[in-house]
Amino acid sequence: MKRKAAKRAKPKRRASAPQAPEAPHASLAKHAKPTLAALAKLGIHREFDLVLHLPMRYDDETRLHLISEAPEGTPALVEGVVTDNAIKFRPKRQLVCTVEDASGVLVMRFLNFYMSQVKQLAPGTRVRLFGEIRQGFFGAEMVHPRYRVVRADTPIANTLTPVYPTTAGLNQASLQRLTRDALNASDLGDTLPPALLEKLRLAGFRESVGFLHHPPPAAERAALQNRSHPAWRRVKFDELLAQQLSMRIHYDRRQTVGAPALPGRHKATRQLLERLPFKLTRAQARAAQEIARDLAQPHPMQRLLQGDVGSGKTVVAALAALQAIENGYQVAVMAPTEILGEQHYTKFSTWLSDLGIQVTWLAGTLPRKEKRASLAEIASGAAHIVIGTHALFQDAVEFSRLGLAIVDEQHRFGVRQRLALRLKGAKPESSAQPHQLMMSATPIPRTLAMSYYADLDVSVIDELPPGRSPIATRLVADTRRDEVIQRIRDACVAGSQAYWVCPLIEESEVLQLQTALDTHAQLQVTFPELKVGLVHGRLAAADKLAVMQAFKDGAIQLLVATTVIEVGVDVANATLMVIEHAERMGLAQLHQLRGRVGRGAAASTCILLYQQPLSQLARERLKIIYECSDGFEIARHDLRVRGPGEFLGARQSGVPMLRFADLEADLELLEQARTAAQDLLRDQPAVAERHLQRWLGGKQHYLRV
Ligand code: ADP
Ligand code: MG
Repeated sequence: MKRKAAKRAKPKRRASAPQAPEAPHASLAKHAKPTLAALAKLGIHREFDLVLHLPMRYDDETRLHLISEAPEGTPALVEGVVTDNAIKFRPKRQLVCTVEDASGVLVMRFLNFYMSQVKQLAPGTRVRLFGEIRQGFFGAEMVHPRYRVVRADTPIANTLTPVYPTTAGLNQASLQRLTRDALNASDLGDTLPPALLEKLRLAGFRESVGFLHHPPPAAERAALQNRSHPAWRRVKFDELLAQQLSMRIHYDRRQTVGAPALPGRHKATRQLLERLPFKLTRAQARAAQEIARDLAQPHPMQRLLQGDVGSGKTVVAALAALQAIENGYQVAVMAPTEILGEQHYTKFSTWLSDLGIQVTWLAGTLPRKEKRASLAEIASGAAHIVIGTHALFQDAVEFSRLGLAIVDEQHRFGVRQRLALRLKGAKPESSAQPHQLMMSATPIPRTLAMSYYADLDVSVIDELPPGRSPIATRLVADTRRDEVIQRIRDACVAGSQAYWVCPLIEESEVLQLQTALDTHAQLQVTFPELKVGLVHGRLAAADKLAVMQAFKDGAIQLLVATTVIEVGVDVANATLMVIEHAERMGLAQLHQLRGRVGRGAAASTCILLYQQPLSQLARERLKIIYECSDGFEIARHDLRVRGPGEFLGARQSGVPMLRFADLEADLELLEQARTAAQDLLRDQPAVAERHLQRWLGGKQHYLRV
């Protein structure tokens, strides 16, 4: 009884209150479970999401053609009366149905059909068909047209038909109906103040989404398709504005959270600077200063330190660490791989041990007893700096007074891990959070910095230490391996060292390991006069460290390695790198790998061995890496080639990303949205709130990296 009553209640057409975030499904609850599941797969959790689920293309069913005059090669609408209908078996069971209008005859062919269709398409029935006409053996025909039984006076659509992205279990017709209902039932009132619309010459929201879902036949198809139409511009602006608002709010909120103020005391930091064998570059000094200033604030720093491979980020991190330690706080340094972590451990130990600073190592592979000892040091506060892999952020690790968390090569951690990391440092019982310093050698293109990274502060090291010589990159077909072998021999005889990087085999770690073992064995035979080492991900931590140390000491001349050496490994005497099957690797990875050489004063070479035939994508990547040595430029290309989702490692993270705006094409809109977000938050916070609610519903925030 009750349910009936509820059903009869008039649906609220213009709910002025935003959707309650705790009940995202309320507006869709009337639908069946399978429908809801399919909708959820499309990212549609509330009725308004349907409004924002925009067509990927359109069909034109607004013009009725005569059969004889219908255009070929593009779908068209025709109408006629069924004259014949039969199930035929040659060459395959199919329903063949003849339709006739005043101008001619057309054959409809269905390879899949229901028996009910045979009845439905009885001779004499008037049907309207939409499909592509082809000239078949028996004249004009349509295979599997969309058709509808009509009367002569059934009106013809007066708008283009939207075709939506959909998924199994939800057909186009249902999605079209659901969307039409959603457009009727939702509040489409403008969230933006008229003054802003006027200033930026933006179309109204209602008109824009109405237009995009059901454009008039005269709409300019190209502008719809390439998303340059004013209606698209409006929707993209709204999306970018929501993202900018969300970022800005997070940025501002940070200023209300507490963190230990760690002012510079300049004792230990000065000592470190004095004992370094080099002087900081201007860019390093500037970055160090920006970080020092942040640490002195009673609010958590969230700063990204970016600088190309080899620009010297580690020492800047060490200076930040000392500032925290001088104030009696602990520092955590997290690296994406054990090799890199261990290298940091060694480096920090040499730099800092004589300053009375305890550097502790923690990794998942540590023997239980040693791990327990490390954990005890961390918990008691005896450990000043803790260096490790992601094991650092597991539950068992309890810091006594964590003041600063440093994440090296932050782009190597997935979005999920990075989000988890942000939460880890915060202790529920205190409102204070540790400061956070993220480092990355994958430079962030400006558009990304303005969007996904907008809630971070960024320091850039934009110069390399003096005395580096550029790396020459060579593309060499796999068939010319012999020449490469000779080069290695020459280099090593001359006292240099070389890396041989084994191919990436994504499908199988076992296979990849096997390849590395085989290559190692082979190269040992090829180079009886050289000491050839091997390092890969499955090696025990101590063995890995021993091999790396031997390479550093020059006891190994040629190091065969899997991509585990991609990040951070630093051996200045290595001047030659061979990357096998370079065509399989991504741009960022190639750039990182190449950055392992060219670390000293001697000229270095990176040889990219590739195997033909090359895919279009591989060819493009190799060309870019061959032509560019600047990490920023490579990253910009990478973003273009891969798109932001892949670039950020954010696919399927469940966090909303931009769907409509294109960072490259819509740079101007992005800049406008950024300014508008600041203005709105300052002058009209309620408007900002309403806009965010419309775009995000119950979701907390846009992707932050
Ligand atoms: P990355 O930014 O890639 O992490 P590192 O911090 O590993 O780079 O530094 C690369 C190498 O350059 C290291 O051997 C480091 O000791 C050295 N280095 C760092 N800063 C300077 C400098 N100002 N002058 C000379 N060498 C430096
Ligand atoms: Mg580094």
